[in-house]
Amino acid sequence: MYKYKKVKNGNLASWNDRYILSLDNHVEIVEALADFCRKKNILAGNILGIGAVSEATFRFLDPATLKYVDKTFTEQMEITNLTGNISEKDGEPYLHIHLTCSRRDYTCIGGHLLSARINGACELLVDDFSMTDVGRVKDSETGLNLYDFGDGMGLLSRFTKK
Ligand code: FE
Repeated sequence: MYKYKKVKNGNLASWNDRYILSLDNHVEIVEALADFCRKKNILAGNILGIGAVSEATFRFLDPATLKYVDKTFTEQMEITNLTGNISEKDGEPYLHIHLTCSRRDYTCIGGHLLSARINGACELLVDDFSMTDVGRVKDSETGLNLYDFGDGMGLLSRFTKK
């Protein structure tokens, strides 16, 4: 599904780990990233990437109705930017990813990413800040799963799992 390599962080005092990933052609990006985070037990972090896709599905949350509107674009596009973060929900990695893609005519579309299939390549940088407690809690006003920075107790689970 992917190849990866751990990168030495420049700051020796840092507890963070950094990985570079190359996803295999035709895999679904969110699924591959979730698999990687589960295997590496990354429960807080940051994601950056570029690549190319043949299909992408975005989700728009209408703030007036709190209803989701999903839309799929099936065409060859370049990923001009993939930006995301990793937190923890119910003990599992929770990915929040936004994607911007450029089309054949060089216009861009983008939004909150639900899924995207690689057609070409996808190269990513994943920073693991799992020494930090970053959870999610449902916010009734916005309908969003917002950050919950917790009380630090969640850190215990980092050492007792895997
Ligand atoms: Fe979003």
